Amino acid sequence: PLSGKTAIITGSNSGIGLGIARELAKAGANVVLNSFTSSKEDHALADEITQVTGNEARYIQADLSKGEDARRLIETAGKCDILVNNAGIQHVAPIDEFPVEKWDQIIAIMLNSVFHTTAAALPMMRAAGWGRVINISSAHGLTASPYKSAYVAAKHGVVGMTKVVALETAQEPITANAICPGYVMTPLVESQIPDTMKKYDMDRETVIKEVMLERQPSKEFATTEQLGGVATFLCSDAATQITGTTISVDGGWTAL
Ligand code: NAD
Repeated sequence: PLSGKTAIITGSNSGIGLGIARELAKAGANVVLNSFTSSKEDHALADEITQVTGNEARYIQADLSKGEDARRLIETAGKCDILVNNAGIQHVAPIDEFPVEKWDQIIAIMLNSVFHTTAAALPMMRAAGWGRVINISSAHGLTASPYKSAYVAAKHGVVGMTKVVALETAQEPITANAICPGYVMTPLVESQIPDTMKKYDMDRETVIKEVMLERQPSKEFATTEQLGGVATFLCSDAATQITGTTISVDGGWTAL
């Protein structure tokens, strides 16, 4: 159903972004992968998607902490029917000890870049007569946790930005929505399990259910494939009137 469409997914050489790129490519889209690196492995991910799906996949390096790079990513791709703003990082510290450069970096990558990519992509969507903006926010775009000031502020900001984009495009064939995941099983999350097991002297199962998924009532991680499926749904005809809202994929976190 997405054949002929081009999807640009920021921060997609791992985790959720890569999962979304794979699912959009399976649904027929040509995809553009991105991160701030430009390694053999990065380009190989694009080749693998092309081999598996038969659709065009490219990798474009751009450091989204820089506004000009964010705009260059969209311009280099040349076409953007589906924009998935996904790139993100985390830093945990109390506000009065939060490093200023970490605050600036998190706001730049996770909030400012969404402004720049959206500004560059909307004219392309208007020219094509169809568009989807999908912002990857978080359960932390709707609720807070201590010590995550920059992350929570950026993710709430993304939800607000999503609503504005939806209103500015409300009478056009363009929608803008945010997906708010709870905990998703990614290599990053997986890599935290051994240390957490040691720290609490717990087995793997207990660490997952009682520490990591403490706030996720389902006691299950979401998967990157599921997030790819939700993004694909937002590109479907059924989702035409869904705009300016959030879809939680959090096992009940925000219902608590
Ligand atoms: P990840 O570390 O696997 O992915 C982050 C991606 O962002 C990577 O591809 C990384 O290369 C890229 N990135 C980082 N800095 C960048 C920069 N300066 N320029 C370009 N790309 C950059 O982590 P993930 O869990 O897949 O996270 C993806 C998104 O999902 C993030 O926005 C994150 O906040 C959000 N999220 C994740 C979870 C979770 O449990 N994993 C939950 C809610 C929201």
